[in-house]
Amino acid sequence: MCGVFGIVGHPEASNLAYLGLHALQHRGQESAGIVSADAGRLHVHREMGLVADIFTAPVLGELAGQVAIGHVRYSTAGGSSMKNAQPLVVSYAGGRMAVAHNGNLTNAQALRDELEQSGAIFQSDSDSEVIIHLIARSRQPAFEQKVVEALGRVQGAYSLLFLTEKGQLVAVRDPYGFRPLVLGKLRQACVLTSETTALDLIEAEVVREIEPGEMVVVDEGGMRSSRPFPAAPRLGRCVFEHVYFAKPDSVLFGSTVYEVRKRLGMQLAREHPVPEADLVIAVPDSGVPAAIGYSQVSRIPYDVGLIRSHYVGRTFIEPQQSIRHFGVKLKLSAVREVLKGKRVVVVDDSIVRGTTSRKIVKMIKAAGAAEVHLRISSPPTQWPCYYGIDTPSRQELIASSHTVEEIARYVTADSLGYLSLEGLGAAVGDPQSRTFCTACFSGQYLTQLESLPARRLGAVA
Ligand code: AMP
Repeated sequence: MCGVFGIVGHPEASNLAYLGLHALQHRGQESAGIVSADAGRLHVHREMGLVADIFTAPVLGELAGQVAIGHVRYSTAGGSSMKNAQPLVVSYAGGRMAVAHNGNLTNAQALRDELEQSGAIFQSDSDSEVIIHLIARSRQPAFEQKVVEALGRVQGAYSLLFLTEKGQLVAVRDPYGFRPLVLGKLRQACVLTSETTALDLIEAEVVREIEPGEMVVVDEGGMRSSRPFPAAPRLGRCVFEHVYFAKPDSVLFGSTVYEVRKRLGMQLAREHPVPEADLVIAVPDSGVPAAIGYSQVSRIPYDVGLIRSHYVGRTFIEPQQSIRHFGVKLKLSAVREVLKGKRVVVVDDSIVRGTTSRKIVKMIKAAGAAEVHLRISSPPTQWPCYYGIDTPSRQELIASSHTVEEIARYVTADSLGYLSLEGLGAAVGDPQSRTFCTACFSGQYLTQLESLPARRLGAVA
C-alpha cells in the first residue's frame, strides 16, 4: 500500500511534502521519496526507510521549487527494493516527468509483455512504470492528453500524481475510486493527497475528494477538472481502508474513519455478544475504536490489557515470516493486573494468516485471563486484494480454507466471532456494499482479473 502527497504554489513545497508524507507514514514504511520542480528542472530524493530518517534538512534544502510530489511505499506489486521506490522519474521525448502511484493495476503484466515485445525496457517491476511507458508512447500533444490516453488502457486501482519539469501537476483517480485522493488548500497553494490527516498536519483546508474517474490539472494557469474516462459500472471504494488501513482521524469516502471503526465494534457487539465477559480490550492500535464501540453497546467495561511498543513497525510490514513471528512479542505486551482471572473480549480488526491472533490469545492467557473471546470487526478475509492492499496468496489466508470454529481452535480462543458483511456495510453507510469494494471478504472482484500474472492469479483459484 502507499500514500501520495502533492503541492503546487508554495515556496516551501518540499518541506510541506515531507510533513505530509510523515502524516501518511502508516500507508507504507518501506521507502519514501519527494520530487520537486524548479525552473524547468526536477529534483529527486528517494530512499529505503522512514520519512523522518530520509529527509534531513540538507536533503530538503536540495529539493527547491514551488511544486512537489511525494510518496511512501510498501511493496504490493513489485519487490522491496530501491528500484521500485517512488516517485519514479523518467526522461522521454516530451521532457522529464515523475509519478507517484497508490493502487495496483490488474492488467499491468499483459501491458508490460506487449510493451516489451515492441522493445520497451523496464527498470523496475512496479506497475507504475507501465503507465510511464504508455505516456511516453502517446502521440497526443499535451501532457494531460497523454495521461488520459495511457490510463485509457489500464485496469485496476490508481490514485496518481504526475509532475512535469514545467511544474504541472496532474492528479487522477480511477473510475472505481478504489483508493482515496483528496484536494486541499493552503492559502494560495493546492494540495492533493491520500488522506485528510496530511492536510490537517500542514493546516490546509479540506476542499473535497477527487471524484472517481476525475482528473485535476494544476499549473500556473490555475486548476481545472475533467472526467475523461468512461464511468465504471459501479463505485469500488476500498472498505478495508476503513477497517484497517487509513488513519482514524482521516475523513475518508465521506466518513471519519474513527467513527466507522467504532460503529463496526458496536455492530460486532450486537452480532456476537459475550454477556458473561468481565472486560473488553483492544489489540492496539487498529482494534481500539472497535473495542470502544463494542464496550459501549455491550456495557462491558473497556480496559487496556495490551500495550503496544511504538518503536517497532507494523508486524505485517516485515516481509519475512520469521521476523513477523518474533515481531508480535516485540510489539505487544500484556498487562497482568488487568487480565488476571478475567473473562476477556479481545477486539481486533482482521485475521490474515492467524499467526498474530494465535500469539496474542496465548499471551493474554499466559497473563492469567480465565477466558479469551476473540471478536473481529470485519468479515473473514478470504480473498487476496489485487487493488493495492498487501494480502498474501489465497492459500495463506486462514479463512479461505478453515471454518470459524477451526480458526478459533487454531488461535486457541474460547470463542471467535466475525462481523457480517451486512454489518460492515451498515457501518460504512452502504448496507448492500454497492459503492464499496469488498472483494477481500466476498470474492466479488470488480474488474477483470484474467490478465494478472499466473503467479498472482493462482492465488484466486
Ligand atoms: P495475522 O497474524 O496474519 O492474522 O495478522 C493479523 C493482523 O495483521 C491484524 O492485527 C491486522 O491488524 C493486521 N493486518 C491486516 N491486514 C494487514 C495488511 N494488509 N497490512 C498490515 N497489517 C495487516
